[in-house]
Amino acid sequence: MAANLISIRGLSRIYRMGDNEVRALDQIDLDIAEGEFVAIVGPSGSGKSTLMYVLGCLDRPSDGSYLLGGVDVGALDDAALSQVRNREIGYIFQSFNLLNDLSVVDNVALGLVYAGEDPARRQETAQALATRFGLGNRLSHTPNELSGGQMQRVAIARGLACRPRLVLADEPTGNLDSRTGAEIMAMFRRLNAAGHTVVLVTHDPGVAAQADRAVRIVDGKIVSDESNQRPAGEPSSSSGSGRLAAGGDIADVPKPQGEGVIKSGDTLRIAVHEGLLAHKMRSALTMLGIVFGIASVIAMTAITEGGKQRQLEQIRQIGMNAIQVRSLNLDGARLLAQRRVNPDGITTEDLTSLRRHIDGIEASAAWKELKAEVRLGDRLATDATPQGVTGDLQAVLDFHVEKGRFLDAGDESAAARVCVLGADVAASLEATPGSAVTVGDQLLTVVGVMGRKAYATSEISDIAISNRNRDVYLPYSTLRAYYRKVIRDTQVDAIALRMASDEGLVERSQLARRIVSDLHRGAEDFIVSVPLETLRQAQATREVFNLLIIVIAAISLIVGGIGIMNIMLATVTERTREIGIRRAVGASRRTVLAQFLAEASMLSLTGGIIGLLAGVAGALAVEAVFGFTVAFDPLIAVLAVCVSVAIGIGFGLYPAWKAARMDPVEALRN
Ligand code: ADP
Ligand code: MG
Repeated sequence: MAANLISIRGLSRIYRMGDNEVRALDQIDLDIAEGEFVAIVGPSGSGKSTLMYVLGCLDRPSDGSYLLGGVDVGALDDAALSQVRNREIGYIFQSFNLLNDLSVVDNVALGLVYAGEDPARRQETAQALATRFGLGNRLSHTPNELSGGQMQRVAIARGLACRPRLVLADEPTGNLDSRTGAEIMAMFRRLNAAGHTVVLVTHDPGVAAQADRAVRIVDGKIVSDESNQRPAGEPSSSSGSGRLAAGGDIADVPKPQGEGVIKSGDTLRIAVHEGLLAHKMRSALTMLGIVFGIASVIAMTAITEGGKQRQLEQIRQIGMNAIQVRSLNLDGARLLAQRRVNPDGITTEDLTSLRRHIDGIEASAAWKELKAEVRLGDRLATDATPQGVTGDLQAVLDFHVEKGRFLDAGDESAAARVCVLGADVAASLEATPGSAVTVGDQLLTVVGVMGRKAYATSEISDIAISNRNRDVYLPYSTLRAYYRKVIRDTQVDAIALRMASDEGLVERSQLARRIVSDLHRGAEDFIVSVPLETLRQAQATREVFNLLIIVIAAISLIVGGIGIMNIMLATVTERTREIGIRRAVGASRRTVLAQFLAEASMLSLTGGIIGLLAGVAGALAVEAVFGFTVAFDPLIAVLAVCVSVAIGIGFGLYPAWKAARMDPVEALRN
């Protein structure tokens, strides 16, 4: 005979319950040689199962040593012990312990997953094994569609999938009728004949008689150890039916080649299929908190970001870094009072003065609107806004001619009868450079047509925005020369200064106010505004709102995370037996931890992605219904997804740790 596969010395397993001490195993010495077929017999409660758990490396002895193949398993850490369970030991439980959600093939392949076998080979091996054990026509059935004998054969096939040296079976015939029991025993004998060391527990003397050796345990002590005398050449499969003739002959089934560590793809697959999809409704409800949290962040930031961009766009319409001096709209008595102090309102002299006294002006312009109809032949441009302009309006507004040319200094000094049309006006009059249009009672030659300028209505009070595409520009001098009657109250409506940078905008605007106020002898007939500054203030108030959104989202995400934790804790309790089974076939604590963490993070990731899509859809709906502009920031989307995964990991950690910490024997006793 070969060397001892199992060598046990002075082994005890003591259960302590309060002051009570149960010596389930008491100072046992036992040697089992490679290739032996041993039956452990004894009355109920004598410690047989306890011995099997210790032999199967599912439980650690309280005292004594256990060498398996010469290795002291007591000295191995969890990972190494898990590898031993996976590779060296095939454990067949009394109660089958199959996973009810998995098919026959997937049950058989369970150990191969933890051996790191790749899916195709796993499938192949498991199918071959299941077929050898007479389950060829039940491959995709689930355990609850099988008979007891079939379930036991699935359990045996699973135990053999990694081709262990040692096959342990706890009462393998206990739950079966005598005929099926005999078939199963025949199978064990063939396995033994093929070289596997078989240790099985039974309380049936008939079953024990079929083993080479019977070890009797009473009260945790070995009381007898005898070899069964069996005549040589006795047919070992006499009681097996022909259908199972091949059962146990697995020499040609491929051996696993994995690296002994579960593949991360499998961890994810288990998380998705056996976690998320196994309880779809529950998963969906669990995700809700995350979905709402992420969706609200995405939608709200899209809307606020859209608002910001729209305001920025409005500032661009006015001109970035601009300071505006505008005439105040006053009614009768108050207008009169101001005009007594300052008869001309804002004037081009104000502009000249401002240019002289304020540094850093890049461009400047002033304009005066004219109430007059604009026509070409019998076509009338509705809503056209003719205005006399002086200075460099193109530079101030960042608004340029597309066809022809803009008004120039020559036009200004000659008070030329020319004009430049905004895009809408040109389109409605079908005018091009060279056309003659009438503005009021004057015939003017079109010298240019402006490009189209984006336009959105103003939302910020203090910032007046007009649709520049309806403008008609004529030289200010032309306005003064030909439309004298229309110039009343203020000489110009507005002066715009474009500064080289946004530095000192506020200080310069205050200076502008003082200069104009002096020139107007204190009359309060104008207003100085800095659109960019107004925008900043508007955005600052928005920040408070943003903070509120973040707080709401954070609460929602935390609630979502707690929901995940809650469900995961319930799941761990519910799947205790599953965890025990996975540990028994070779899953280490780390692997179990990773599986539950993967499950929690897949749950929250899915919630996060659904939330992301819902948030985008919600923002787009708001855009469609209310006409808000929305803007999506891909960074926020990435962040949202990362946050949801982090929540899954964060809140899944405790349940996963609980699952990993679970004692396999305790888990299996459930
Ligand atoms: P058998 O399988 O021979 O019926 P067991 O090995 O299951 O017996 O149990 C042996 C003894 O140890 C019994 O007295 C049982 O009550 C006790 N025992 C088993 N497991 C535990 C446990 N987890 N806690 C306390 N006592 C236990
Ligand atoms: Mg038992």
